[in-house]
Amino acid sequence: MKLRIDGGRLLDLTDGSLEPASVLVDDASGRVLALGTDLPAGDAQLTLHGEVLLPGLVDVHVHLREPGYTDKETIHTGAQSAAAGGFTQIACMPNTQPPLDSPAWVRWVLERAATAPVQVHPVACITREQRGEALTDFAALQAAGAVALSDDGRGVQDGGLMRQALAWAAELGLPVAIHAEDESLAGPGVLHRGAAARLGLPDLPGEAEAAMVARDLLLAEQTGAHLHVCHVSMESTVSLIRWAKQRGVHVTAEVAPHHLLLSEDAIDGDDAVWKVNPPLRSERDRQACLAGFLDGTLDLVATDHAPHTAAEKAQSIRTAPFGMVGLETVFPLLYTYLVLPGKLSLAELVRRMSTRPAQAFGLTGGVIRPGAPADLTAVDLAHERVIDPERFLSKGRNTPFRGWQAVGFPVLTLCRGRVVYQAQEQTCVAAAVQSTEGGTAR
Ligand SMILES: [Zn+2]
Repeated sequence: MKLRIDGGRLLDLTDGSLEPASVLVDDASGRVLALGTDLPAGDAQLTLHGEVLLPGLVDVHVHLREPGYTDKETIHTGAQSAAAGGFTQIACMPNTQPPLDSPAWVRWVLERAATAPVQVHPVACITREQRGEALTDFAALQAAGAVALSDDGRGVQDGGLMRQALAWAAELGLPVAIHAEDESLAGPGVLHRGAAARLGLPDLPGEAEAAMVARDLLLAEQTGAHLHVCHVSMESTVSLIRWAKQRGVHVTAEVAPHHLLLSEDAIDGDDAVWKVNPPLRSERDRQACLAGFLDGTLDLVATDHAPHTAAEKAQSIRTAPFGMVGLETVFPLLYTYLVLPGKLSLAELVRRMSTRPAQAFGLTGGVIRPGAPADLTAVDLAHERVIDPERFLSKGRNTPFRGWQAVGFPVLTLCRGRVVYQAQEQTCVAAAVQSTEGGTAR
């Protein structure tokens, strides 16, 4: 079945221009057939009202919680949340129960994800059970479909073991995504220094992050591996990555929306909605992360979407689990608070949320053109909305951005040519899509 989408404006990622254009997609091949203003009719048609068509967003750092923690999220609810956020591809972290440390569990995730609304790419563990003691079988995990390796949630404490891991990953061409945290420095910390002192809670020092990043950058240089640094939060880490890139180390780095938009100064009491690892840092660190993101030292945005139940997050900061959800708010937040004030262009934001993450993890995506996969999202840049977690498709409601005003919410997402999300208030869109419903079940 061929679907024609009219009434949108297509963002040209090379020059940032927005031109009215229709898109003709084919759900059988999952590809874009044609772009332009005078396209043949499809079997179905869908009309937008000036929304902007972007390539489907790509998030390389998401926690889908399955297997094991399905009260927090499932592969399906996490993928629905991704589609609502404009994402068409997500990489899921392996700190599940059991952890994704065997080819069988990687295949299990892929089988469950086959019917999910977006493409799910498993990341497999670096070490067995993420215990940091013995490496997993990287070649077998890659053959099963793992796109990267990570012990996310924990750092690999043993430098010798990490060197072995990077050497093997380099041979296979697999990125190693590090959660940089030296546990001997982190201790029982829960918040950054200033907020910890204010609230009388143990602090989680930034040196725990930066020291491990320094170690792993040196090991990546030595082994030639592709090191991917997760959720950079410290000024010192940004400087280390800048230094390593100047030396030619193969490193990419991500920054989370909460580290770009919030500092520890926002924490207004013992409310675990603020608890995230790495923690919200000082205003100086936030500014450094933003500058590093704008100058390209930090390559891409990843949400570190980490859903938890309301009961878990109702606990004190001391005992509640770390994490914030992010999939359904990241694009509008960064559009509203970075693009609209003129800090970066819309095209650059889209490159950092689609093209770059796809490249970094070796995925196909990040562009809309004939012949490419029909992964796209339409965002409404005209209407402001208040962020209301009760509307999330994720099971998690743990966002620090409740009540923030934003524009740029997705109204329509297509993954491989099929409609996987449409905003409820887009009644015109919904009516048009009714006729294609047979083709949307996925
Ligand atoms: Zn992490």
